[in-house]
Amino acid sequence: MERRVRAATAVATLLLTGCAAPSPDPPARTGFTVRYEPPAAADRAEAARLRAGRGAEDAADRLNAFLDLPHEVVVVAKSCAGEGSGYAPGVRRIELCYDDAVEDRALFERAGDRPADEAVSAVWTETLFHEAGHALVDLLDLPAEGRAEEDAADRFAALMLLRQGPPGERALRLAAREYALAAASGTGPHAEDQDEHAPDAVREAAHLCHLYGAAPAHHPDLAPRFPHCPTTWPTTRDAWLQDLTPLLRR
Ligand SMILES: [Zn+2]
Repeated sequence: MERRVRAATAVATLLLTGCAAPSPDPPARTGFTVRYEPPAAADRAEAARLRAGRGAEDAADRLNAFLDLPHEVVVVAKSCAGEGSGYAPGVRRIELCYDDAVEDRALFERAGDRPADEAVSAVWTETLFHEAGHALVDLLDLPAEGRAEEDAADRFAALMLLRQGPPGERALRLAAREYALAAASGTGPHAEDQDEHAPDAVREAAHLCHLYGAAPAHHPDLAPRFPHCPTTWPTTRDAWLQDLTPLLRR
C-alpha cells in the first residue's frame, strides 16, 4: 500500500515536472487586443489624442471582462483614407479609423460642440463596440447578415455602453448625437456605408430608445419621443445576452 502511494507520488511528480517544462511556443492570445498603426500626416493630432486617451484599451478590457473569447480579435487603429471602420471575419480583425474621428470632430465643431474631445472619444468607443458586435456575430455564427447584422451590432454597442451606467449613457447619447448631426448634414463618416447600415436618423433614434428604455429616470426629456422603449429594452438586451451565453464569463 505504502509503496503504491509512493509510486503514484513519483508519477505525479514526473507529470508536474513535465507540465512545468518551458514550452517553445508562447500561449495563443485570446480576447480583444489593441494595436496602433502610425497615422497619415492629416490624422496625426487626432491619433495621438485617441491613443493617449486609451479609449480602445478601456473598451477591450470591458469586452474581455464580460466575454471569454476562444480566439484573438485584434483591434487595429489606423488611417483608413476614407474606407471606414470595419470587421474582417477571415482574419478576425477590427479596423478603427483615425480619419473617421477627424471627420467626427469637424461634425461636432460645426454644430458648436466645442471642445469636442469627449464626443469624439464617445463615438470612437461606440464604433469599437459596434465592430465587436460584428466579430461576435462571426464567432458565434449568428444568423444575421446585411442590415439585420448592422442593427444587431448597433444594439450590442448600446448594450456595452449601458452596462457602464451613467458614463456609458453619456457616451451613448453623444454617439446618437453624431448620427443626428450626420443625418442633418448628409455627410460624415457614414456617408459611404448607407447601403448596409440603417439611415443615420434611424440609428440615432434606436440608440436614444435603448438609452431611455434602460434608464428612463436619467433621461426624462426623451419620454415624449420614446414612451414604449422601457418595455422594449429588456427584450433587446436579453436577446443579445441569450446569444452571448456560450461566451459569458460567470
Ligand atoms: Zn457595421
